[in-house]
Amino acid sequence: MAWVLSGLLTDRRDAAPVERHGFAMSTYVRLVIHDRKGAEIADSCLEELARLESVFDRFLPGSEISRLNAQAGAGWVEVSEDLFAVLEVALDVAERSGGALDLSVAHLVDLWGFHEQDGRIPEHPPPNDREISHQLQQVDFRRIEIDPSRRMVRLPEGVRLDMGAVAKGYALDCLAALASRQGARAALFDLGGNIKVMGTKPDGSSWRIALRHPRRLDEFFAVLALSDKAVATSGDYQRYFMWEGERYSHILDPRTGYPASEVCSVTVMAPTGVLSDALSTAAFVLGVEEGRALLESMPGVEGVFVDRELQTTVTSGLEGLSANL
Ligand code: ADP
Ligand code: MG
Repeated sequence: MAWVLSGLLTDRRDAAPVERHGFAMSTYVRLVIHDRKGAEIADSCLEELARLESVFDRFLPGSEISRLNAQAGAGWVEVSEDLFAVLEVALDVAERSGGALDLSVAHLVDLWGFHEQDGRIPEHPPPNDREISHQLQQVDFRRIEIDPSRRMVRLPEGVRLDMGAVAKGYALDCLAALASRQGARAALFDLGGNIKVMGTKPDGSSWRIALRHPRRLDEFFAVLALSDKAVATSGDYQRYFMWEGERYSHILDPRTGYPASEVCSVTVMAPTGVLSDALSTAAFVLGVEEGRALLESMPGVEGVFVDRELQTTVTSGLEGLSANL
């Protein structure tokens, strides 16, 4: 009987963790699930990501966001719960950040040549001021209307939404919910550096998340110990192009139409993936001072900024953090 008893007494989480790698939502995926059903749960997570691509990828023909964009100027459109949930968070962060996050940047993103694709962005000259100010006319989150009672959205003619700043974070929330419904209690989900950890590790210890050095990309400058949190990093070192010695990175300041360049990276911790992702992009645009004020104003949110001189600034909840840059 001993083997039966030991089987019964073994926690489902005691099994060796299942680690799965993949590619989805234009980025690398890593799933670590501590559960005897980990393999099954990982499979359903990958299916879930494929489903979410068909909601949020504006370059996927027939995706929900591409259909919504195509109906700009044609009145109210009913949208899925997923799309509506993300728009609500993004519009709230847009408002709180004075438009530093603004999903209506799609045309501007395309003009700069930053649209989500695999691989490096080839060197090319930046667009000129006239082209930028022309596209900037269509950027204004205040013109995105939502109606929660009917779950409807109305975009004015000419406005196109880009979900790149928020979709991966939201996807983390969906993965955690899915894994939790399937009984998992301890898991880590990593979508290209947007991470969500569920519970603690089975031995009760926190998950350790290393923060990448924004200039020495194979080094880490700090480690966060976390449980039940989401972490997103927005940086200038992964999607950018060089032209005549200048770095043009993929996060645009919607107020000027040019890439934001005050900081090299911002890492934001928040209770949900979608909020951490939305806030990391907003804080990247706002820079150290205003960005920190935004993060401090929100409960359960902390952040780490690395500026262009490689100086770090943290929010009050992280004051003890040791950083090596
Ligand atoms: P990553 O996708 O590298 O994790 P972010 O979450 O910061 O980084 O999102 C950046 C993406 O969001 C860009 O590739 C672009 O598609 C879009 N974007 C760029 N600037 C803004 C902005 N100010 N507001 C909303 N979306 C933006
Ligand atoms: Mg983001």
